[in-house]
Amino acid sequence: MLNFHIITIFPEMFDSYLKESILKRAIKSRKISVKFYNPRDWAGQSNNLELTKPIDDTPFGGGPGMVLKAEPFLKAIQKAVGRKTKYKIYYFSPRGKKFNTKMAKDISQENRREKLKDIILVSGRYEGIDSRVEEIYKGERISVGEFVLTGGELPAMILIDSISRQIDGILGNKFSLEEDRISAGKFYTKPAELKWKGKKYKIPEVLLSGNHKKIDEWKAKNA
Ligand code: SAM
Repeated sequence: MLNFHIITIFPEMFDSYLKESILKRAIKSRKISVKFYNPRDWAGQSNNLELTKPIDDTPFGGGPGMVLKAEPFLKAIQKAVGRKTKYKIYYFSPRGKKFNTKMAKDISQENRREKLKDIILVSGRYEGIDSRVEEIYKGERISVGEFVLTGGELPAMILIDSISRQIDGILGNKFSLEEDRISAGKFYTKPAELKWKGKKYKIPEVLLSGNHKKIDEWKAKNA
């Protein structure tokens, strides 16, 4: 089993994604587990009654964005780490190392070899998390693409999804890894002839031929 530990101030954001389809089954069959640690649970009280638990503050040196405070994140990570020894921490940033399938595969293989059991994913928000958190709990900085998102929750879901689908038995035959087979960039299912607003749309003839060599050639051409 691979255990994901998510540090986030918005744990509910994950609900719909993890409660459907393949990941839901992966959790149910105990191939993966996902736990949440909300730094707000460790945020101190404020003198300002409207802000009972401040999680962020203005940046030293000035600037428009608020910075997430170090202590609540350190305590949440500390709780996630517990007494674990075979764990890795990933932080998210648009400036991080570009995440890809090879990294997802490597992580799942380390898990298969029982060298890695727990993955801690730290989701930032606003301007980011106080940098001392990364100094204290060392980890890798990951980017999921060349764009800036409002938070690290989507990146965390991307990692959970892409790593999980590399774990044996999660996809099953029906959805087998397309990275390991010829997958065309075009896909069709029944009916072979679709009628839409008076026009007919047929699928490429070769897909009905039963000639697997030719079908693979067509797929490779369209991949
Ligand atoms: N100022 C931060 C920086 O330069 O790294 C970016 C802050 S961004 C508005 C808020 C949070 O969203 C980040 O802390 C990170 O967790 C997440 N994030 C935004 N874009 C991302 C991307 N492309 N890849 C991974 N995480 C991203």
